[in-house]
Amino acid sequence: MTSSPDAALLGLRSELSGSIVLPGDVDYDSARTPWNLSVDQRPAAIAVPADVDDIRAVLRVATALNLGVTTQPNGHAASADLSDVVVIRPSHFDEIVVDETARLLRVGAGVNWGRALERLDGTGLIALAGSNPEVNVVALAINGGQSMFSRRYGLTARSIVAVELVDASGELRRVTDADDAELIWALRGGGGLFGVITAIELALYPGDVIFGGSLMFPAEAAEGVISAAFALANDEPELGLDVGMMRFPDGPMLPPHLRGRTVATVGLVHVGDEQAGRAFADRLRAVAEPIADTLVPFTIGSLAAVAAEPVDPMPSADFGGAVAGLDDAFVHEFVDAFLRGADLGLMRCSIRAMGGAIADELGADQSAVGAVHAEGLLNSGVLLFDPTIDAAAALQPLRDLVARYSGGGTLPTFLGADASLADAYDREVLDRLAAVKQRVDPGGVIRGNRAITAS
Ligand SMILES: Cc1cc2nc3c(=O)[nH]c(=O)nc-3n(C[C@H](O)[C@H](O)[C@H](O)COP(=O)(O)OP(=O)(O)OC[C@H]3O[C@@H](n4cnc5c(N)ncnc54)[C@H](O)[C@@H]3O)c2cc1C
Repeated sequence: MTSSPDAALLGLRSELSGSIVLPGDVDYDSARTPWNLSVDQRPAAIAVPADVDDIRAVLRVATALNLGVTTQPNGHAASADLSDVVVIRPSHFDEIVVDETARLLRVGAGVNWGRALERLDGTGLIALAGSNPEVNVVALAINGGQSMFSRRYGLTARSIVAVELVDASGELRRVTDADDAELIWALRGGGGLFGVITAIELALYPGDVIFGGSLMFPAEAAEGVISAAFALANDEPELGLDVGMMRFPDGPMLPPHLRGRTVATVGLVHVGDEQAGRAFADRLRAVAEPIADTLVPFTIGSLAAVAAEPVDPMPSADFGGAVAGLDDAFVHEFVDAFLRGADLGLMRCSIRAMGGAIADELGADQSAVGAVHAEGLLNSGVLLFDPTIDAAAALQPLRDLVARYSGGGTLPTFLGADASLADAYDREVLDRLAAVKQRVDPGGVIRGNRAITAS
């Protein structure tokens, strides 16, 4: 081993089949920048391994230098400064295999949801995907994963069948219930603390006919529409619903009727035919006339187009938490909190309806994420293009609301950047995660974006 840390990391450049970028390299800034541009992380190095041997080499050198190693495919959920960490970008691990007979999707750690779902078109099968095509499959699944299909089929973490990873000692392992039930329990919701994952296998579910999209309503109708959407969620436990508000910036990139406007939004996904899907939407239309309507029958490969979420990197601050007691009083306070936050720069807030298969107790003990009993998961965001915006102040009314209507445990994928797993799980789960971590990585070399407990 070379003596100085810089020389040792530089030595990896000739050893790896892939590449490594170090501070001082011309491409360091572009390589270190995560999707969330407001997180200024300055890692010790950024490695792009070509194969498992490269991952082993990175782990070996980092361990010798007393550095951590974290895998960050995109950095939507980037947090911490990472100055004593080598970041792994797994883009070369890009396999996608669909086994229609076994109803299994196998993807490499570099695959984002958009590419994976395109491969499911024509199979009649769906995976429990998130709504954004540029979010990584492994990242969403191991951190919980709430899909618009989850009320019907369950949380994404619970659909994990197998995980292949290089552990802190450099051993390549295939982890299943039969091989290591405690480790796969931890990987189903405990995040990236347990190894450098190279591939994941997820269960697939029937879904050849899908209907959905979103409706937008004027702010004046917000309380009525949001109450009606919660009532619909209550009556239809398998229907995917995302209910919230947005304030559009007053910019020329938007159509005139949306510029600077505040709206109520309802995203809806029904696994089934158009007629039934439209009947659900009619319950909302009966409350107010939408100002925009993208509802359409679609195939799984078009989920991203239907969800129409932003895909380009941007600076943002997020806050999320679980809520319960979604009655009319809650809706009134939600709208009020959103409007007060929006006046300070808050851009969006939505609540994913929970319940249905998400709360299913059968098999829940096989995953850290377990059965989630919250009624909704709130997620909100402030765009930070304008440096005068005080994100903490803009998010505070919603923080106060969640404190008043707390739904208990949430999912790591719905936590903001400053949160730890202790914001999602109870003491018993945290202790069990810590015991698995101690067994598979006693030196704490592998770092996730969320520690088990707040530091
Ligand atoms: C626009 C948008 C839409 C979203 N929609 C949803 C949604 O519908 N449902 C939902 O549940 N969540 C959703 N999320 C949250 C998203 O799932 C999380 O932010 C996710 O963890 C980040 O995805 P990413 O690809 O950027 O991962 P990154 O931020 O790059 O990684 C997150 C963490 O996962 C771990 N990790 C990732 N890959 C590996 C690996 N190969 N080995 C070991 N550890 C690994 C690491 O700890 C890493 O820090 C959304 C986020 C955004 C920004």
